[in-house]
Amino acid sequence: MDVVGSAVHGEREKLAPLEFSTRDVGPADVAVSIEWSGVCHSDIHTGRSEWGEVMFPCVPGHEIVGRVLEVGSEVTKFSVGQRVGVGVYVDSCRECGPCLAGMSNYCAKGMIGTYNVPERDGEGYTLGGYASGIVVDHGYVVTVPESLDPAGAAPLLCAGITLYSPLKEWGAGPGTKVGIIGLGGLGHMGVKFAKALGAHVTVFSHSASKKEDALAMGADDFIVTTDESVFDTHNQQFDLIINTVSAPIDLNPYLELLGLDSTLVMVGLAPEPYPINAPTMLAQRRRIAGSMIGPVAQLQEMLDFAGEHNIVSDVEVIKADYLNEAWDRVVDSDVRYRFVIDASTFATA
Ligand code: NAP
Ligand code: ZN
Repeated sequence: MDVVGSAVHGEREKLAPLEFSTRDVGPADVAVSIEWSGVCHSDIHTGRSEWGEVMFPCVPGHEIVGRVLEVGSEVTKFSVGQRVGVGVYVDSCRECGPCLAGMSNYCAKGMIGTYNVPERDGEGYTLGGYASGIVVDHGYVVTVPESLDPAGAAPLLCAGITLYSPLKEWGAGPGTKVGIIGLGGLGHMGVKFAKALGAHVTVFSHSASKKEDALAMGADDFIVTTDESVFDTHNQQFDLIINTVSAPIDLNPYLELLGLDSTLVMVGLAPEPYPINAPTMLAQRRRIAGSMIGPVAQLQEMLDFAGEHNIVSDVEVIKADYLNEAWDRVVDSDVRYRFVIDASTFATA
């Protein structure tokens, strides 16, 4: 399938149009006509070579919502015209323990990311959702409820699942006190899902201007972290804290906020290591864990839950030619709260 999209063409270059061909639609594949494509901070980390080697041209994008254009001969689960989504990975080894246990996002050989990863058959590498179309194995495609605003649903495919998964894993619900650090794309989805699950939700933010929005999203409390004295007053009060911040921060004051056996989950991906004070960990037998998106079945579960509770992202819809500015604004924590590209605006150079 011939498509148009936006790509980073070389190191330290800006995004610019790219015409390319996807692979042919195989018997197990679904061809998706992309309608909406979210802008995740991971696109920027990758596109700006903050996480290591990049295969150029790099077409980012892993928050994809569109309609089925064509299905392969073996595909019975999807039909032409259906609204579907594609998230952060498009394949996995299908043989290792995690894959066989239904957790292919933790594939022992590494999940095959939607962009910038060699394809499973070794033919080329993946090109993502900043484009008018994509071809994906049907086992990695999900159904998006028709009731949801499709632009607002796109960020569920990464930001949504990345917060839903740890909230479920660590038991967020009635009677639990959850903290979300950073009110960006991921963080604001965390507020909405934690609230819908019944938890008491506190946002920790370095942007005082986001308070009203956080409360409107359902947060019970909003704490501005630029005043460090706030940490003293919340000592040992939290059951679960999820760090969504894209830059390195001092985690130790947050650890002090956890009660006995409680957990700080890392989902933000600053490239630098985080220094941890051992005595803070020992006191209250605290834990630090990590969590990476979620498996395909849970992605579907989250989308169905979002459909039932009408949960979508707060989005700023943009045209493809605004992408470079949008990336700068994301880095400046100046997005309310996810940019989503109208995929009809990808154009030839
Ligand atoms: P984002 O929209 O930029 O949100 C990050 C938020 O962190 C900002 O809105 C800001 O919130 C806070 N922040 C940013 N710089 C900060 C600084 N210097 N000091 C303190 N706070 C700061 O990014 P995102 O798309 O949500 O992604 C967040 C991180 O998660 C990225 O590193 C991304 O790569 C990673 N990620 C991980 C997974 C996973 O599976 N684990 C999946 C997707 C993305 P406030 O203004 O409220 O402070
Ligand atoms: Zn992402």
